Parts: sequence; C-alpha cells; structure tokens
Amino acid sequence: MSTPAPMIPLTGIGYDVHRFIEGRPLVLGGVEIPSPRGLDGHSDADVLCHAIADAILGAIGEKDIGFHFPNNDPSFRGISSIELLRRVMVIVNAQGARLLNVDASLVAEAPKVGPYVEAMQAKLAQVLGIPQKRIGVKATTNERMGFVGREEGIAALAVASVLAPE
Ligand code: MG
Repeated sequence: MSTPAPMIPLTGIGYDVHRFIEGRPLVLGGVEIPSPRGLDGHSDADVLCHAIADAILGAIGEKDIGFHFPNNDPSFRGISSIELLRRVMVIVNAQGARLLNVDASLVAEAPKVGPYVEAMQAKLAQVLGIPQKRIGVKATTNERMGFVGREEGIAALAVASVLAPE
C-alpha cells in the first residue's frame, strides 16, 4: 500500500488591473455594484476574481489566468469570472491540492465598495469551497495618486495559500 505524498503549504500572489469604461456593469467578487461605469475586458472584467485566480494558480505552480482562459478565445467573451474561478478550483482539485485561504485588496478611488464586501465574501466562499472567514476582501483608495487616483481603473491584489502534495 502506497502512502500518500506529504502535503506542504504553498503561497501564490496575484495582481490585476482593468480600465473603467462606460456602458458596462461593475462586477467585483461576483457582485454587481451600483456604478456609473464598469470595467473593460474580454470577460466580465471582475478584477478581484482575476487577482484571486492568479494567486491560486500561482500557489499550485500553474501558469496564469491568461494562459488557461485566453482573451482571444471567443468562448470566454463576457464570461462570469466566478465561472473562471470555478474552473481554477477544478485544476486545484485535480492536483490533489486544498485551498486554505485567500486574502485580497481592491485599490479604487470610487465607488465605495465597503457595503458590498460581505456579499463578495459569500459569493467567493461558495465558488472556492472555503469558509467566508478564510476570504479577506479589503479596499483602499490610492490617495488620488496615479491611474487609480485619476479614476481610470481599479486594481486588485491577492494572495492564496494551499496545501499541495509535495
Ligand atoms: Mg483581468
């Protein structure tokens, strides 16, 4: 009888930016947030989900979200990024890895996302299969500096920890 490979803790980091555009809904962490503008992108441009996806893929030693879900593939046009996260978790499970936690920060001047953070955590907990308390979603402004400060777009950073077979 073979013994299972020992599990080791691993960490990944993710970063993403999307530009504001008129005429699209703003979706962050799978939650639609009232805003005069949304984010531009091939998918629903959910910058928070994209940063989290890259953090998880990085933790398990996989290539990034652009490799797994190329933005020149018409099948991903307008796709919900929650669905992309669901597919990332299929890859995690196929590796025999287990997601432990995710922590993320949104960097945006506007709109204020504070009132929607709990809804985002709930949505992410559902797709990631971990408790809400293991999902950090924080938000900060950029103190009016740079492209975020000029309200040209929203940035997101994330880290993820997994247990993976050695
Ligand atoms: Mg992106």
